[in-house]
Amino acid sequence: MQNSQIPLIEMPFCAAVEPMPPACSLNCHEKALMPRFQKIDREQLSWRPMNVERLIGEEHPARAIWDFVGRLDLSGYVKHVRAVDGCAGRPLLNPQLLISLWVYAYSQGIGSARAIERLCEHDPAYQWLTGMEVVNAHSLSDFRVKHGEELNGIFVQILGLMSAEGLITLERVTQDGTKIRASAAPDSFRGKERIEKALEEARQQVKAVDELSEEETSRRAEKARRRASLRRKERLEKALEQFDKNTAEGGVKDKEKPQVSMTDPDARIMKQPDGGFAPSYNVQLNTDSANGLIVAVGVTQAGSDINQLTSGIERIEENFGAIPKQIVADGGYVSRENIIAMESKNVDFIAPQCDEAGKAKSNYDIRGISKEYGKSQFVYDDNANSYQCPQGKTLGLHSIDRSGSKVTHVYGADIADCSGCSAKGQCCPTSTKSGRTIQRIEELPPVIRFREKMETEEAKEIYRQRAQIAETPNLWIKAKFKLRQFSVRGLKKAGIESLWVCLTYNICQWIRLCWRKERANANAVA
Ligand code: SF4
Repeated sequence: MQNSQIPLIEMPFCAAVEPMPPACSLNCHEKALMPRFQKIDREQLSWRPMNVERLIGEEHPARAIWDFVGRLDLSGYVKHVRAVDGCAGRPLLNPQLLISLWVYAYSQGIGSARAIERLCEHDPAYQWLTGMEVVNAHSLSDFRVKHGEELNGIFVQILGLMSAEGLITLERVTQDGTKIRASAAPDSFRGKERIEKALEEARQQVKAVDELSEEETSRRAEKARRRASLRRKERLEKALEQFDKNTAEGGVKDKEKPQVSMTDPDARIMKQPDGGFAPSYNVQLNTDSANGLIVAVGVTQAGSDINQLTSGIERIEENFGAIPKQIVADGGYVSRENIIAMESKNVDFIAPQCDEAGKAKSNYDIRGISKEYGKSQFVYDDNANSYQCPQGKTLGLHSIDRSGSKVTHVYGADIADCSGCSAKGQCCPTSTKSGRTIQRIEELPPVIRFREKMETEEAKEIYRQRAQIAETPNLWIKAKFKLRQFSVRGLKKAGIESLWVCLTYNICQWIRLCWRKERANANAVA
């Protein structure tokens, strides 16, 4: 095809041209000849046969994901479907396809429905999955968050399949929490007055859109505007609701100026691994040590892990109908309550010892007690059941508190001794109505047994292996799947997105542990 726009280059005539060597040596210009290249014609229409099956190789992970999802019972997704054979209506997208698309996308670090839609147009793996069709972003987006219960069902099914293959044993399970940023900016947090004002504005906006004529509202842009106004109004109503709930429950950081995010009212400001603070959710993962598979996932608004251990065990029990023999967690989970709860459930709890020194230090800081007059400087007399202070005065037993997970014995010095003491400023500067007090904690038998166990080399060795098992899924989720911030808003949807990435992680491990071997065996037989 000749293009009349391309200027013709006049070739110099050369009478004594030597014959060209068989292969072009690219020194043609020295011989006054121009090299000849293939033309690139971007205006032509091309129509080529394509074998969709050959778009990706036999070992491509998209095939493995499709294969694995095809083994699952997806009947939960189709129970409400009205488009059935023999009836009018447009066929629905196959849940096997939508699940495979999301799992493959997350495995490639893609968490956006629009990005998947674009990839369906040109990426061979997505084209292979869809059979060269483009899946609409709205369908993908709705599917991701609308079927939380069904998704949990397939997560449990996957765990069942993996247990049946011996990949999960529940002999030893770790628990770890990771903070994932919410889809909200730190400056989206506002006080009640600002939220109420914004809500009033949003209501006015919705009213204004509702008052438009039918012809105007039928326009696509107006429909989108109405949807956006409604969503904003709903978010702000939820923010106000959360505000009242949080202040009633004391779940706000600053009680003087309580604030809630107007973008994601469920998000909470949490400390990040880099030391900063950001609106986040706390994702709790339980990992089986046999093959590093995630056996339970939960999302909480609690910034601390201390109250999350029991709920982790309960989630495992819901998924398997059984609890793990041993649970390994870091110091963030260590409390007397957790030690006692694990023993009552017959779960062997492996974790570092409580940091008594650290707790004592903060206590002294609050009460203004100097190190020289810390508890360790008081000598306990077992026979007399009393303490002696550095100034030689006696602190007798005042009271015993048996509530909670420990027995607390409180000892106190005589006020007359302390008020006349030269060390009062260092020992009990804030006490005015009583002398210095000391607490002696009498640990309950489960705590004593836990401490003795954690002194053994065997328990220490188990704990040393914790980081690798527990933190590998965290790393995959944040570094490989790139879920450092949720794409969705609200606690429930954050829980669903967490489930998607955990499911993806487990399927990726299944490809590594089983699918590749199955393929190799099949190829060997063939
Ligand atoms: S303040 Fe009281 S308890 Fe403390 S050193 Fe003096 S006498 Fe002892």
